[in-house]
Amino acid sequence: QLEIHDLKANYGTHTVLERINLDVEKGEIISLIGPSGSGKSTLLRVLMGLLPPISGGVRVDGRSLDYANPAQLREIRASMAIVFQQYNLFQNMSVLENVCVAPVKVQRRARKEVEELAVRLLTKVGMGNKLDAYPDQLSGGQQQRVAIARALALQPSIMLLDEVTAALDPELVNEVLDTVRMLAADGMTLFIVSHEMGFVREVSSKVVFMDGGHIVESGTPRELFDNPQHARTREFVGKIL
Ligand code: ATP
Ligand code: MG
Repeated sequence: QLEIHDLKANYGTHTVLERINLDVEKGEIISLIGPSGSGKSTLLRVLMGLLPPISGGVRVDGRSLDYANPAQLREIRASMAIVFQQYNLFQNMSVLENVCVAPVKVQRRARKEVEELAVRLLTKVGMGNKLDAYPDQLSGGQQQRVAIARALALQPSIMLLDEVTAALDPELVNEVLDTVRMLAADGMTLFIVSHEMGFVREVSSKVVFMDGGHIVESGTPRELFDNPQHARTREFVGKIL
């Protein structure tokens, strides 16, 4: 579903990603782990078409992302939804409106159908009783669950999650992870960046360890955590477990 081929990306003249090769199959749950600055968020930006690579490329459902073609990028990007650490809800809109606005205004889907879907999704993430609340009336974990429902309302075929629990108080982390577990159980293709190693180990079909803009190694959670092949991976995994 997602193929990343020999990707290289720079910020200015500074190379931040090099020789990135990765395939993601439908329904797979890939977790990207690695130290701060290793290029995880940058890789997500390239996948979303927000940063053109220097060389190499990305294919989504068999189509190459053409970074010089905004219309094509927009269309392909529509099949991917990203949720960030900062949930960035629209502060002046209710929970329900936050979820409905892009499908109605950008995707031009019928409001009635979108609202029904939004209520279903919000109920699913445990926010069905807060449809009319405003973001500043919600906890961080609740806001993040609304952000996930908002991403789902776009009906993406793949979701990219960049440290969605990093800004949350520890006691709120699990309610968001439960929501992600539910997506995984539903068969959604997930591309997860997370520092929650217990969670990564539990949900991932494949874990990819990045350092210094490279993929050092990848494998099943068991392979990567219990039997890392590279000294750098051993050091990282040893430090955090
Ligand atoms: P973290 O775990 O802290 O989120 P990360 O793995 O997501 O780290 P990136 O944000 O992808 O790391 O950053 C990779 C490298 O690119 C870092 O060296 C960073 O300083 C640099 N970088 C990130 N964003 C920019 C930018 N907008 N302009 C220039 N350099 C950047
Ligand atoms: Mg990051």
